[in-house]
Amino acid sequence: MNALQRFRLDRLAGRLSRYQAQPETYPDDEAGLTVCKLAVNALRAGNYGIGALILDAAGEPLIEATNRVFEPAFTSAGHAEMAAVDELERRYPELAPGELTLVVSLEPCPMCYTRLKLAGLGHVRYLVPDPPGGVVHMAARLPEIWQLLNPEQRFGPAAVSPEIRQIARRLFLTNLRALRRQLLSRIQPPR
Ligand SMILES: [Zn+2]
Repeated sequence: MNALQRFRLDRLAGRLSRYQAQPETYPDDEAGLTVCKLAVNALRAGNYGIGALILDAAGEPLIEATNRVFEPAFTSAGHAEMAAVDELERRYPELAPGELTLVVSLEPCPMCYTRLKLAGLGHVRYLVPDPPGGVVHMAARLPEIWQLLNPEQRFGPAAVSPEIRQIARRLFLTNLRALRRQLLSRIQPPR
C-alpha cells in the first residue's frame, strides 16, 4: 500500500471506530460493522479488503475470517468465505449449517458461491454487490445442479446502513488494482 492508500485506510478505520451500529433499523448492521473491521485487518496484512463472519442460529458471532490470498503465503482459494467455511467445518462439524448465516463484504464470486451451496449455509448476505465479479445476481444462469442443490438457501444483500455499505465498498476498492496486478503477474510472468 502506498502512503495515500494508508492515509485513506486510516480514515475509514476511524469512521468504523466511531460508528454506532443501528440494529433496530438495520438488522445486519452489527455484523456488517465487524465485517468491515475484518476487511481493514485484511488490507493491513496485504490482502484484499474483504471480511466474513458466520453467525450461529441465535445470531451470535461464531467465526471471523478475512481474505488471505497473498499473505502469509499465496493461496488462490484464500477468499474470506472459503476461510470461514473451512474453519466452520473443522471446528463445528456438529452444527446444522442450514441454521447459520454468513455475512461477507462483497457479493460472492463463482468459487465461493458454489462452495457455500455445497456447505449448505442457510443464509448468505453481502454488503456490496459486485456485478463484474459476483455471481449471486446471475445464479439462475449457472448449471442446473447449482439451482437444484439446497434450494432453500437464501442469498441476498445484507440489511446494513448506507454508511457501512459505503465503507465496505471503499475498503474493497482500496489497493484493488495493485493486488490484481500482483495476481496477474503470478499467472503471466513478464517475458
Ligand atoms: Zn470468492
